[in-house]
Formats: sequence, structure tokens, C-alpha cells
Amino acid sequence: MRTNLSTLAVVRNLGILAHVDAGKTTVTERILYATGTTHKRGEVHDGTTVTDFDPQERDRGITIFAAAVSCAWDGHRINLIDTPGHVDFADEVERSLRVLDGAVAVFDAVAGVEPQSESVWRQADRHGVPRIAFVNKLDRAGADLDRAVDSIRERLHPVPLVVQLPIGAEDGFTGVVDLVRMRSLVWADGDAAAVEGPVPESLRDEALRRRRALEEAVAELHPAALEEFCDRETLSAATLTACLRDLTRTGDGVVVLCGSAYRNRGIEPLLDAVVAYLPSPLDVPAVRGVHQDTEQRRPADPGAPFAALAFKVHAGGTGRLTYVRVYSGALEKGDTVADPGTGRTERVTRILRVMADRHIQLDRAVAGDIVALAGPKATRAGSTLCDPGAPLLLEPTAAAEPVVSVA
Ligand code: GDP
Repeated sequence: MRTNLSTLAVVRNLGILAHVDAGKTTVTERILYATGTTHKRGEVHDGTTVTDFDPQERDRGITIFAAAVSCAWDGHRINLIDTPGHVDFADEVERSLRVLDGAVAVFDAVAGVEPQSESVWRQADRHGVPRIAFVNKLDRAGADLDRAVDSIRERLHPVPLVVQLPIGAEDGFTGVVDLVRMRSLVWADGDAAAVEGPVPESLRDEALRRRRALEEAVAELHPAALEEFCDRETLSAATLTACLRDLTRTGDGVVVLCGSAYRNRGIEPLLDAVVAYLPSPLDVPAVRGVHQDTEQRRPADPGAPFAALAFKVHAGGTGRLTYVRVYSGALEKGDTVADPGTGRTERVTRILRVMADRHIQLDRAVAGDIVALAGPKATRAGSTLCDPGAPLLLEPTAAAEPVVSVA
């Protein structure tokens, strides 16, 4: 059976990048909650967060081992690849960045850009990972979105495209004005779902001013936006959305959203932005590999020979699992795969989609997907697994070549 290529368009291989303590674990947790993957909210401090399923991680309260978790949002599948935020695990971050198609960079609204956010940002630049920024902790005393955006601009040098205006500040932070649709989103305590309404009268002028600034910034960067802006002196929400998507994917601009993950505010618009702006596996260039000194490119086509990159091996209570990104072709349960790095072939006994709280057994995984495999015993993080009849070694630097040109 040949998989329809258009189904790949709804996949988002997403990473969450942050300085330790900026709220990456809480954002991840709230995403899983908002997408219905988990029905209870884990809290970081009591060690119940579902992405950290290694006891060592729970004990230390930091995410040591990357794990991939799948969830669904608005007809899309989001494969959330956890990237360690701790500086000691730079190699793991690097490895995770290779298999991502896009990322959310989380910042603390009080601290702004911190040294580690800077180093992770630079790594993501090197890998050409398109990003959106989420300024978290808007509920904290001293939180200031504008100041955080200034620090992002000054220290990381992207063109920030702020698409929200906070409603209320610190303890009184209750929602945001969506500057693209010019609607307000207000959250009741503990509820992830926002109540949508018109822009509050008291914020109208400020919202109009910021919408104007957003339109001007986008028109300056995107020819289609410039044309519409010159014709009509304004941009429609549809044009703005399309241009923001293009600018995100080329790295020419970074969409900025805000919220309070702890209070569950801003997570749904963040998911909407992930789906709207970040690329699918079809939007990124074919992966490069070599066989007998000849370079090959493999597109994200389920009909091409199978090739996948192992980015994480996890030996836990569920046995040895190899997390892979499938770059091309399809893999069926029971298939034999080759590791051209070691020359070994091994059988895949199970293909698992890892959800926050359970594993789903699949018969098949296709290009673009991120799954965990049981069976292979010799794979290591960084190993290629491929069709024995069409060997290909994915270069160690396979994704190091920018998938987008980052200015
Ligand atoms: P990580 O180290 O980046 O994974 O950050 P965590 O998610 O573990 O969060 C670090 C600390 O910040 C924890 O004590 C969280 O409860 C807290 N935190 C996370 N998000 C928010 C937020 O939106 N507001 C406030 N006030 N605290 C938060």
C-alpha cells in the first residue's frame, strides 16, 4: 500500500528548546494535556510529568534523556521530540536537532534570553531549524513581553514578529489579543480552552498599533505582503498567515507568542502556530546519504527505499527501544533492516508510536514519521537503519546542512 504523500503534510516533528527552568517541561506537559494525550496534569515538582519517564530524570528534575511523544492537534500529528536543556547534554541536543523539522524556543518573561537559550539557539541556527518563540511565565512578578522580545532581538538577532498582545500583567495576566485575527482569547482558571471574543475596548488602540507594526515588519520581509500592503495599505489575516509561514520556514522572521504554561494560558494558540507556521517533513529538503562514496538524496517519499536515523536508544522497563526518524520509504513490522555503519542486519519486531502514557503498536511507519523500534540490539544513537537492498549511510552531518537559509 502506498501512503498518500499529502498525509505527511499534517506531520510536525517538533522540538522544544529552552534554558533550564524557562518552562520547557511545563510547556510539554501542557501540550500533552491540551491535545488530550494525558488527562491529568503532571507537575514538575512532584515528579509525575509524563515525558520524563526515566526515574533518574524524575529524581533530578531535569530532562536528561530525549524521548519522542506523539500527540494530535487540529487534524495534525505532532511528534514532540524532547531536547535536553541542560548544558551537560549538548550532544543529545545536537542529535535531537538533526531529526526536528521545527522548534518552539521557550523564554522566561522575566529573565529574557539566558546564556543557555543563546547556545541552544545557535545550535538550532546551525541546523537550520525553523523556530517560533514562546515567552513563558507572563504571570510572574516582573514579567515583561516587550523587554523579553528586545532581549531576543538584541542577543539572538532574529526579526521578531510579535503576533499577540497580553491582556493584563503578572498576576492579572488573563489572556491575549491575537493580532492576526484581531480577536481576544481569555482563559478561566485551570482551563486550557480560551474563551474567544472581540478585542477589549481598553486595548483597542494598542492592538491596532501593534497590528500595524506587525504588518509593516512582514511587508518589509515578504514581497507578496509588500505588494498587498502597497495596494491596500493593510494586510488581510490570510496574507499575514501565509507570509508568517513563509518567513518562519525561511528563517527570515521568528513569530513570537506568549503565555503562562504553569497556568495553562497560551498553549492552544501555540499549538495553532506550530501547525500554521512550522514545516512538515515534505517542506524540508531531501536527506543526504552516501553509498560507496556516492552521494544520494532521499526525499520524504514512502515509495522510496527505507532509510531512518536512530537518534535515541532507551533501555528501560519496556525493553530496548530505538527511536528513529524515518527519512524515506516505509518500514513494516517484521522487516529486516541494515545498519551500514556496522554492516549488521537486524529484525524489527515491533514498531511503536510513543504516546505520553502508552505505546501504540503500528504495522508500518513511513517517511517523515518518528517512531520507536523494538528488535534491533546493536543500534546506537546516530546509527542509520536502511533497506538492506538499498544501503545508504546517512551522513553524521545529514541535517547539519541548513534546511532553510537562516539570515
Ligand atoms: P524546564 O527546566 O525548562 O523544563 O522548566 P520547568 O518546566 O521544569 O519549569 C521550571 C520552574 O518554573 C518550575 O518550578 C515550574 O513550575 C515553573 N514554571 C513553568 N512555567 C511557568 C509559568 O508559566 N509561570 C510560572 N510562574 N512558573 C512557571
